Amino acid sequence: MAKTEIKTIGVMTSGGDAPGMNAALRAVVRSCTYHGIRCKGIRLGYQGLIDNQIVEMGARSVSNIINRGGTILKSARSDEFRKEEGRKKAYENIKKNEIDALVVIGGDGSFTGAKAFQKEYDIPWVGVPGTIDNDIFGTDFTIGFDTALNTAIDAIDKIRDTATSHNRVFFIEVMGRDAGFIALNSGIASGAQDILIPERKDKIDDLFASLDRGRRSGKLSSIVVVAEGEELGGVYDLAKFTKIKYPDYDIRVTILGHIQRGGDPTCADRVLASRLGVAAVDALLEGKTNVMAGVRSNKIVYTPVEEAIQKHNEIDQDLLRITQILAR
Ligand code: ATP
Repeated sequence: MAKTEIKTIGVMTSGGDAPGMNAALRAVVRSCTYHGIRCKGIRLGYQGLIDNQIVEMGARSVSNIINRGGTILKSARSDEFRKEEGRKKAYENIKKNEIDALVVIGGDGSFTGAKAFQKEYDIPWVGVPGTIDNDIFGTDFTIGFDTALNTAIDAIDKIRDTATSHNRVFFIEVMGRDAGFIALNSGIASGAQDILIPERKDKIDDLFASLDRGRRSGKLSSIVVVAEGEELGGVYDLAKFTKIKYPDYDIRVTILGHIQRGGDPTCADRVLASRLGVAAVDALLEGKTNVMAGVRSNKIVYTPVEEAIQKHNEIDQDLLRITQILAR
C-alpha cells in the first residue's frame, strides 16, 4: 500500500506481556499524531480484533505510560485467530474501523498470526519485538529483556545475601523456555558459580566440577542460575542430584517466575521501545509490510518476518567463555 493510502493505523500488544510495551504503544500513537494519521488501539491482541474491542487513540491517551510496566491495551492469546473463521471476523472489524495497516507489538507467535492475516487479507503490518526472552532474530535486543534482567539480578543479589549468611547453594530458575539469554546475562551480572542454559546441553558432571572448583578455592556458598528450559530436568531435580552427590551441602531452590515480566521498564527498554514504535510507523508509511523493526549495532533495521520467525539469535560464545573464567 502506498504512503498516501494509509489514513489509520491499528496497534495491538499480543502474546506474553513485556515491560516497555507501553512505551512502544506511546511511540506508535504519537508518531501517528506527528504524521497526521489516525491511530486505533486494539485491546487484548487478536482476540480484541475479533471482538471489536477497538478504541481511538490520540496523543493524550498515552500520557504517563512510558514509565509503566504491562500494557494498557492488555494482551491476550487467541485460539480463535488461529482459525480462518476467527481471522474473517477480525478482517470485518478492520474494515468497520477503517484500519489500513497494523503495528503488532509481541513475540514470534504474534508475528506468525499477522503473516497469516496479511496473506489472506492483504493488510500491511509491521512487527515490534516485545518479549522478555530476547529470542527473536533481527534485533540485538527485544523490548522487556533489559528490565527482566535487572529484575532478575536484583532478586539474585538478595538471595546472595542469605546464601552467604548460611553457606548455602542456591539453584535459581529464571525465565527462558527455549532461550538462555536471561540466564546467561543475569548469571554473569550476579556472579553465579554456574549457569545452565538449553543451548549448551549442559552435563551434570560439569556442574559438579564447577561446584568442586569453587569449594577447592574456599567458596562457602554458591549461586547456580538455571534457565527454565535447560534440559537436565529442572531446578528441583538439579537440587536433588546435587544433594545426593554432596550430602553436606545446604541446598535451596528459588523460582523467580512472573516477577521477571513486571515492573517499570528500564531506561534502555524505554528508549528501545520508543525507537521501534517510531520505526514501525515509518516503515508502514514507506510502504513496507511483513517486516519486523529491530536494532542491530544500535541502528534501526527491518527484517523480513519469515527470517525473524525462523532464525534464532545465537548465544554469544564470548559470554560463555567469560562464565568459565570468572567462576573460580
Ligand atoms: P511470547 O514470545 O511472549 O510468548 P508470542 O507473540 O510468541 O509472545 P503466542 O502466544 O505464541 O505469543 O502468539 C500470540 C497469538 O498470536 C496467539 O494467541 C494467536 O492468536 C496468534 N498466532 C500465533 N500463531 C498463529 C498462527 N500460526 N496463525 C494464526 N495466529 C497465530
